[in-house]
Amino acid sequence: MAKLKPPQSIKGMHDILPAEQVFWQFIYQKATELFADYGFEKIDTPVVEAATLFWQAVGQDTDIVDKEMYVFKTGGDEELALRPENTASIARAFIEHGMQVLPQPVKLWYWGPMFRHDQPQAGRYRQFFQSGLELLGDGHPAADAEVIFVALGFLQSLGLKKLCLKINSLGDEHCRPVYLKLLKDFLKNRSRYLCATCRLRQKTSPLRVLDCKVENCREVGKEAPQLLDHLDERCREHFKKVIEFLDEIKAPYTLDPFLVRGLNYYTHTVFEISLEEKGEEKDQKFGPALVAGGRYNGLISLLGGPSTPAVGWAAGIERIISVLKQQTVKIPENRPPSKIFIAQLGDLGKKKSLVLFEEFRQAGLLPSISLGRDSIKAQLRVANRLEVKLALIIGQKEALDGTVIVREMHSGIQEVVSLEEIIATVKKKLKVIKSTFHHEDGLEMSPKNEK
Ligand code: AMP
Repeated sequence: MAKLKPPQSIKGMHDILPAEQVFWQFIYQKATELFADYGFEKIDTPVVEAATLFWQAVGQDTDIVDKEMYVFKTGGDEELALRPENTASIARAFIEHGMQVLPQPVKLWYWGPMFRHDQPQAGRYRQFFQSGLELLGDGHPAADAEVIFVALGFLQSLGLKKLCLKINSLGDEHCRPVYLKLLKDFLKNRSRYLCATCRLRQKTSPLRVLDCKVENCREVGKEAPQLLDHLDERCREHFKKVIEFLDEIKAPYTLDPFLVRGLNYYTHTVFEISLEEKGEEKDQKFGPALVAGGRYNGLISLLGGPSTPAVGWAAGIERIISVLKQQTVKIPENRPPSKIFIAQLGDLGKKKSLVLFEEFRQAGLLPSISLGRDSIKAQLRVANRLEVKLALIIGQKEALDGTVIVREMHSGIQEVVSLEEIIATVKKKLKVIKSTFHHEDGLEMSPKNEK
């Protein structure tokens, strides 16, 4: 029979292996603590939603809807989608659960996988995790500043450095259409300089021309009228206040008139946080965005809910992990390493050691154990590698006698202890070892030997 090709994960989708989990747990824990401190409550929404939710919310002529959604039909001919982002789902949940009757603002945070059928490359996957905040029911510019402040605090709490906030205003339903007409007219006369994609986009989503990375399009963009100069009084005032709040909280930011974001629901403030990159290409001062978001005052009413101003952001967890590694941020150990190791010989020894393991675990002293290995020598090698202080050995004789050999790893001194006294003896010995300390050269010395 022909040998089967070994199965592989799908392009752009990855396993998160045990060695990586320390990063994921670290970020999740920081998110949980920090977001709760700022009064955000966790919400989980399903990964599958009606496709129309995203068609309506994210909007046509966006990359997500046009090219990147995983849409499928069920037996009943329902069109469903794997969520490409979570703001639409949260807006749906807000409406569905009548959250407008709750004290406003409603402050929510989330964590979970998103799916976009994009071209996989570094920092761009087809399944990736986002964690984000949504603050619903508050239209004040202070809310924009608050969520930005939490985003910066989140990244800083992870130990990330050289963060850079770019910010812009996209106006609202009153002033943006007037500006879009101006921009379309401007682009029409320069169509021949644009890349093929932008030549199509200039009519349907002209703002996207401004964030095109193709050199010619960037040159055209630089000459284009800027939305910031065409905001109406209300939008200008909103943006000015956001900036004033950011000044007050001393958040470093750059005004970026080319920041437009690829989702249609944004109004007023949009922002991205990335890393400052040195020695970069011309005009490319920033790395890929770690966090991106903005205000979306029209989304909930667009989906049929009550008119509700809202603002939020999403952080890309894989990208954050890649920067944590790049900046060699030290991740604190989640649980202290074991101080004791249980080694055993034979079936009876294994049985006894399992019981002992549980007794120690319940006593708050989690041991390490390696049941698969038979030779005591091999097990002690593992104990050495784990740098435990004590090895508890249950050989065949000890298993029958109801005793344990307690071996001090640093001196090799051994003592036979009865099972009844083992926990108390180990606690006492660990205390004594703790009162000694490690000299800089790694030798363990007792305080009395100190010069
Ligand atoms: P967006 O939902 O497009 O505003 O993206 C918000 C954040 O999610 C970005 O700043 C990235 O950090 C992350 N992100 C977006 N798309 C991807 C992707 N395809 N792969 C990995 N991370 C992504």
